[in-house]
Amino acid sequence: MSGAGAAAGAPSIEPGGPRESTWHPTDQFIGGAWVPSHGTERIDVVDPATGEAWASVPAGDAADVDAAVQAARAAFVEGPWARMRPSERAAVLLRFADEVEARADELSATNTRENGSPVAESGGAAANAAGILSYYASLAGHLEQEDVREFPNGSGRSVVRRDPLGVCALIAPWNFPINLVVIKLAPALLAGNSVVIKPASPTPLSIRHIVLAAAAAGVPDGVVNLITGPGRMGDVLVKHPLVNKVAFTGSTEVGRRIAAACGELLRPVTLELGGKSAAILLDDVDLDAFAEVFVRSSMRNTGQTCYISTRILAPESRYEEIVARITEVVESSPQGDPFDPSTVFGPVANRPQYESVLEHLESARAEGARFATGGEPLPGPGFFVAPTVLADVTPGMRVAREEIFGPVVTVQRYSTEDEAIELANSTPFGLGGIVFSADPDRAFAVAEQVDSGSVGVNFFASNHAAPFGGRHDSGLGVEYGIEGLEQYVSYKSIHRK
Ligand code: NAP
Repeated sequence: MSGAGAAAGAPSIEPGGPRESTWHPTDQFIGGAWVPSHGTERIDVVDPATGEAWASVPAGDAADVDAAVQAARAAFVEGPWARMRPSERAAVLLRFADEVEARADELSATNTRENGSPVAESGGAAANAAGILSYYASLAGHLEQEDVREFPNGSGRSVVRRDPLGVCALIAPWNFPINLVVIKLAPALLAGNSVVIKPASPTPLSIRHIVLAAAAAGVPDGVVNLITGPGRMGDVLVKHPLVNKVAFTGSTEVGRRIAAACGELLRPVTLELGGKSAAILLDDVDLDAFAEVFVRSSMRNTGQTCYISTRILAPESRYEEIVARITEVVESSPQGDPFDPSTVFGPVANRPQYESVLEHLESARAEGARFATGGEPLPGPGFFVAPTVLADVTPGMRVAREEIFGPVVTVQRYSTEDEAIELANSTPFGLGGIVFSADPDRAFAVAEQVDSGSVGVNFFASNHAAPFGGRHDSGLGVEYGIEGLEQYVSYKSIHRK
């Protein structure tokens, strides 16, 4: 890509001294070069651990959207990418994976400074992104295979092709600003599409390192474009006449609006939305094993992970024991500077989210929940909220129904296994869930009855090779796996005798 290595793309951010650096790019990545934005306003990027703006990006406008989409369209129609064999594109994706890994330190430091993810979390972002790219590279054969299907009456046969769709709009939230773009980018690219990426306004910077990595790997000009700007710019992107597909991760509220626009336009859309998943602890739960995975499965990334099981469902017979054990784990997990490798809980990622978390805690207080630990903002700068365990939570409380997206878990009582399953399935969401039991077969049988896109038995992790997606208000379509690749193709059947 010409101009891709320009200094405007990325500053040097040393992991050891990240708070001394600033970054104020005036450009966006369009058609293989860093070009000035048409937008006259700027978006500040705030370090949530200090509350101070340390960077800013252009607030792009409709002219930027149009330039990026036109560049993507031109690359799709005129460029080599869509015409290359999938295995040739896979070779580029593997180089892309190496380039991402080579930028692991910058990615981690920028991610942490943008959204306060502890480095213990963001330090894995590059390896995870590289793993996703390599996994999709391994699926080239799926696109290249001869897929020939006989007419059932024997009158002929059909050659089934998986063509790329064209220009894909990739819109991401702020909680995992690298992974949630790469999980769209990798299958979109393998299938031969061009993309326009719009990151969330609080986290517009780490993705610049990803764009640089794509350029260094040899992704042709115009295939990957990056624009920054507010939500209304995302709306313009979704509705642009030359966009052929929208892939969105974010809130259910915005997802609904995007789905409505795409419905009107008959435009394919994938939506990965909010969640309110449950961890069902069966009465034979091994609490030592549960405690080992608790933070990862219920409070990962300071509680700002879509699929985590923030509603703990505990059997009446062991309720107080479970509340005490969770409280012990939370109180012994360090909270503080996200750049400290020992930090488990960082700040909430941005001011609006911080205010929303505090408002939920107020509602819990007003509705009679018991605060086993936490419940308050921490004094001093930054958006820190003490990790909170809410006990005596009942199904009607706001904190039992709404996604809080902060360091808060609720613990609800149940008497029978059937009641636990009913409670787990009692929200409009259907994203994740976990069942804990000393007997994995018993847990599996309960997991089969949880109405969601993914459920774990005694742990939760997303598997690159298995579909991940939400049911009901948690989304439409899936990411990951061959099924995630199929969201970026257009089928064509060529019939012949
Ligand atoms: P959000 O407010 O819905 O924003 C997501 C993205 O959409 C941002 O880039 C945002 O831009 C953009 N946007 C806002 N309004 C838009 C519009 N009208 N048209 C097009 N784009 C628009 O969500 P968030 O607060 O960033 O993220 C948190 C949510 O994401 C949570 O609900 C969480 O559960 C969900 N999430 C789901 C998954 C999953 O896989 N299911 C994974 C992670 C997170 P601006 O930032 O500029 O407003």
